[in-house]
Amino acid sequence: AWSEDEVALVEAVVERCWAHIERVRSTEALVDADRRKSEFLATLAHELRNPLAPIRNGLELLRMGSAKPELQANVRAMMERQVGHMVHLINDLLDIARVSSGKVVLKREPLDVQAVVASAVETSMPLIEAGGHTLEVDLPQEPLSVEGDAVRLSQVLGNLLANAAKYTPQGGRIAVSARREGMEAVIAVSDTGIGIAAESLPEVFEMFTQVSRSIDRARGGLGIGLALVRHLVQLHGGSVGAASAGINAGSTFTVRLPLGGDRTEKPPAAHAPA
Ligand code: ADP
Repeated sequence: AWSEDEVALVEAVVERCWAHIERVRSTEALVDADRRKSEFLATLAHELRNPLAPIRNGLELLRMGSAKPELQANVRAMMERQVGHMVHLINDLLDIARVSSGKVVLKREPLDVQAVVASAVETSMPLIEAGGHTLEVDLPQEPLSVEGDAVRLSQVLGNLLANAAKYTPQGGRIAVSARREGMEAVIAVSDTGIGIAAESLPEVFEMFTQVSRSIDRARGGLGIGLALVRHLVQLHGGSVGAASAGINAGSTFTVRLPLGGDRTEKPPAAHAPA
């Protein structure tokens, strides 16, 4: 048997080992976060500079004034697209900064999931069509109510649909569906695209993460869309998950939101509790 002193000694050693492991772990996490941040800054610079070259060339062409009206119109449309892309990136950046510092306040109201899906589909349609994809929408007949911020939830689904279009080779199939499961509304966006390797699945919602970098760089993006999606869904008291059978096997993103916002029974609150 061990003496009390020996037991105390062993305990002290074990405790110091744990403390050491914890320190190493948190240092590793910091180094990892730091690396992702550096990569992100490089990506950001790249993403913001990319649209500038075609815009500059377009301006030069318009300045010369000799191009045919048809070409001028094309150049203008191209410049608008590029500017739109930059505005989108910057809005995502501002959003993620606001969301992660707790500054996003949801405008909660009772919502029909069907209407939210329809609005997200409408905004994503140009991207889906540009990819030559087909879109299947499967919504329940009976109303599916949640309490949430219509703009933010439509942003969540819009991001998932945009990713589905972006990470699916030309001419794929994208499907969005909603159903009731117990006390939850379950909304799924699936595609027949490049898929996600099993080991990368847990990472896709991390900020600044692009899991298949070589492909992702060609497709652009900052790796913040899904981080934003997760933040916004969590603010609604819900959760989001990703599934894929692997590379080139397509992906499915599933958003779960608590049912609520029954319009018929709740009297309007005269004074919202603080
Ligand atoms: P971004 O698209 O700007 O790179 P996101 O945060 O939206 O950033 O996505 C993070 C990463 O998750 C992407 O870079 C990509 O590797 C992966 N991903 C997201 N959606 C899909 C999808 N539908 N199919 C395959 N991979 C995806």
